[in-house]
Amino acid sequence: MKKGQLLYEGKAKKIFASEIPGQVIVEYKDSLTAFNSQKKGSFPEKGRINREITTLLFQKLERAGIATHWLKDIGTNDMLVRSVKIIPFEVVVRNRVAGSLAAKLKIEEGKVLTHPVVEFYYKDDALGDPFVSKEQIVALQMEKLNTLQILEARALQINSILLGLFFQVGLDLVDFKVEFGRDRENEILLADEITPDCCRLWDLQTAEKMDKDRFRRDLGKVAESYQEVLRRLQSIDQGAKL
Ligand code: UDP
Repeated sequence: MKKGQLLYEGKAKKIFASEIPGQVIVEYKDSLTAFNSQKKGSFPEKGRINREITTLLFQKLERAGIATHWLKDIGTNDMLVRSVKIIPFEVVVRNRVAGSLAAKLKIEEGKVLTHPVVEFYYKDDALGDPFVSKEQIVALQMEKLNTLQILEARALQINSILLGLFFQVGLDLVDFKVEFGRDRENEILLADEITPDCCRLWDLQTAEKMDKDRFRRDLGKVAESYQEVLRRLQSIDQGAKL
């Protein structure tokens, strides 16, 4: 499929028009950024690995009843997706304390939460994607309560599916971020990506971090960890040993 006009370039992906109305091409880049783009890096094959991880997880989620924008893979780094208007809130689900929550409350990373917590962050690079409460979003008329409740329920459903999937391959899903969009029929679809860029994954045996924290915190073996996450996920279908 021929790539049309570049519609949008983000930190880790480019979006191109496709030949089909209502469908666009997502190209996964090899770049890696953290701290609102203040830290930049890349590694070869990163785009392919993240494209493969997203495809694999989106297909599993679809089979479990979660509607996603994914349609098909069309190349090493590229996938065809339904064009959606992104709802401008990052939806974070946490199972354990880590990252910004640990820093904000000065709590050691790893503390298990009694139940998964869903948080919304307003997508605005200039503001640094600030946390916003559901009440603030509704009172500011940025989104309807009913939509936020759908996003919350969907995010929790995704969490329980992913928790099980990652557990099968020896990984603990600590937290993650997802994004949703509306298609032309106004249906809410899971969009964007699910990769080690936007999840915290800890090895269940060694507690080693297998995600973007390796890059954020200069822990080394970034590429190896992303590759290992993909290898383990692929092993589910191949029935292979870890
Ligand atoms: N996350 C993300 N994009 C963001 C902010 C967070 O993908 O812009 C992910 C992050 O990788 C982690 C989860 O959301 O898996 C929770 O992140 P947190 O709020 O702890 O922020 P961080 O300190 O990681 O920026």
